[in-house]
Amino acid sequence: MTPFPRQDYASLDRYDPGRSPVPVDLSDNTNLWGPHPAALDRIRAATPDDLRSYPEVYADTLRAAVSERFDVDPGCVTTGAGSDDVLDSAFRAAYGSGQTVAFPAPTFSMVGDLARMNGMEPRPVPWQEALGDARALLAGDPAVVYLCRPNNPTGAQMLEEWVERLLVLAGEEGKPQDSTRPGGGPLVIVDEAYADFAGETLIDRAPHFPKLVVTRTCSKAYGLAGLRCGFATASPATVLEIDKSRGPYKVARLAAELAVIAIRDEDGWVARTSGECLENRARLRTELEARGLAQLPSSANFILFSTPSGIASADASALRESGVQVRPFTQVPHLGEALRVTVGPWPLMERFLEALDRRLTALPGVASS
Ligand code: PMP
Repeated sequence: MTPFPRQDYASLDRYDPGRSPVPVDLSDNTNLWGPHPAALDRIRAATPDDLRSYPEVYADTLRAAVSERFDVDPGCVTTGAGSDDVLDSAFRAAYGSGQTVAFPAPTFSMVGDLARMNGMEPRPVPWQEALGDARALLAGDPAVVYLCRPNNPTGAQMLEEWVERLLVLAGEEGKPQDSTRPGGGPLVIVDEAYADFAGETLIDRAPHFPKLVVTRTCSKAYGLAGLRCGFATASPATVLEIDKSRGPYKVARLAAELAVIAIRDEDGWVARTSGECLENRARLRTELEARGLAQLPSSANFILFSTPSGIASADASALRESGVQVRPFTQVPHLGEALRVTVGPWPLMERFLEALDRRLTALPGVASS
């Protein structure tokens, strides 16, 4: 029993990412090259007004920067305190047009909680089934269809044609942005938290579909997870509904200013560190292969690989004892129990590989290279 009428909250708890301080934390897919240096310079030069005054009500300067960078109208941009907040606001706005949030599983672990927080039931559809036929996601008229592209935790990239097919099936036939269908069809959310590492995006396409939202975060490639800033693109009518659901003053003054600096990326820092990340991802892939560990192809800044002992939590604990944190997963298609490691500068990857080799050596019957 809870002290409030919302008995559906009985199945919820505080979010536990299963992390604790450790010398080498490779568990949360943030930018291990650090924060955007120009953003750090700006925060060092903070003025009294940065703290004393309220931010812009709907972060218009940030919306303008997103508009410029991604070639969409500023009226097609919404923002929030992290992309979690944008997702939460979008779910809340869509609540009532159906009772469920459908998504190909496995995916971002917060999605089930966000559904429940907003009075809806999560409806996971096994990955192969959903990708085999997008109609599997639309059964039962969901209020929201959530797609993570590239997907966390697997790193898989859905084909653009598959997303387009889903949109057509959902009733979104690429109509001009002023022809909305109030209440009709699910809100389709494409979460592009890791799109900077994938080299392709739907961010400029969202405004052309009445009920498509593409979300982005400043927490990953931009190196600004501590700021809690995210944004999204959609048609103006959808942006308006999400803004109403979100409420005013959600993006802090400094957070908005620093996000603008990272989005403009005038010195190319995001591009450089993302490029190095991709090189290191390929290197790490070879190292894991050499150790005989199966892995999934990744379009993101992490790799999901089969766990050495067959018990992901035990291997994650062993790596932790060596000072390296990775994230364990169970029931992963093709892998079963698996570990997800964030890709970063090579010296950190060496620390990870040393810890992994220590674990492999300690396991009876498992050979290390
Ligand atoms: N979407 C995905 C797929 C993520 O992995 C994460 C962070 N783990 C988020 C959204 C949330 O990011 P933010 O920090 O912007 O809330």
